[in-house]
Amino acid sequence: MKGLLLIAGIPTIIAFLLWLEKTNPIEKDQPRSEIICNYKLVAINVIVNQLLKPAASLCAASLVNAMGGGFFELRTDGWWLVPSLIVFILAMELYSYSIHRLQHAVPALWAMHSLHHSAESLTLVVGARHYWFEGVAMVAFLPLLDVVFKIPSDLLFVGALLYFLPDQCAHVNIRFSLGRFALWINNPQYHRIHHSIRPEHRDKNFCKLLPIIDVIFGTAWKPAADEFPPTGLVPSKKPATLIDGFLWPFRGPRSVGARGAPTDFYEIAAKESLEFLDVMGNLAKPNSTGIGR
Ligand SMILES: [Zn+2]
Ligand SMILES: [Zn+2]
Repeated sequence: MKGLLLIAGIPTIIAFLLWLEKTNPIEKDQPRSEIICNYKLVAINVIVNQLLKPAASLCAASLVNAMGGGFFELRTDGWWLVPSLIVFILAMELYSYSIHRLQHAVPALWAMHSLHHSAESLTLVVGARHYWFEGVAMVAFLPLLDVVFKIPSDLLFVGALLYFLPDQCAHVNIRFSLGRFALWINNPQYHRIHHSIRPEHRDKNFCKLLPIIDVIFGTAWKPAADEFPPTGLVPSKKPATLIDGFLWPFRGPRSVGARGAPTDFYEIAAKESLEFLDVMGNLAKPNSTGIGR
């Protein structure tokens, strides 16, 4: 039954969403180069993650076992499924929200996450346009939910179904608004605000499923019915080649900065070194201020 749902249901939903992207888009004529770039970056992410999956899973399993193998069992027999699902969703929301806030606040994490935000044409596949190491690192080194909970596979399956549309499909290029229900559940318009280039939308709408978590932490932006802002980095920066995408943290953010600020480590280090040499050079002159005087 589960297999049938996955084999028949998911492709049907994806085909329907792709049809809606054609018939009722937010952006009508997205540049072909942007669309191709999305697919190329998704391919890198998927292929590398698949290749490293056994090693990442092994690392995660070792960590989970070393930490005790899950403190609380989330039972799914009978009515236990309902409270277990609620606990699972709340834990997942808190965990993913915290990680996402850190990805925007810590320069080294933003250097990777900014690849996702460099997309200027949001489409269905942008959900998988992430820097390849982020997925590997999350699986291998941060299996926090598995450390805290013993999660049965049927609960994971229900969770995956619940998150599929609001989270995995949050980047579809479909013009529709939930209106006054926009803060009830994550949706493409709500998440588009997170990708917006407009200053008032900066660092807003981090959630995966429930915008209430953004409301609680003061990062929610309720979009107006016709609010579909342009997306990308400020200033605009995109990987020009596949190598750029693969090495994005070392190539991309040099002129990107964290949300417009110059936070690239190498850029700052180079700038400060030059300033230091300049100051030292001035001090060494006989008629300059400081030690040389
Ligand atoms: Zn983000
Ligand atoms: Zn996104």
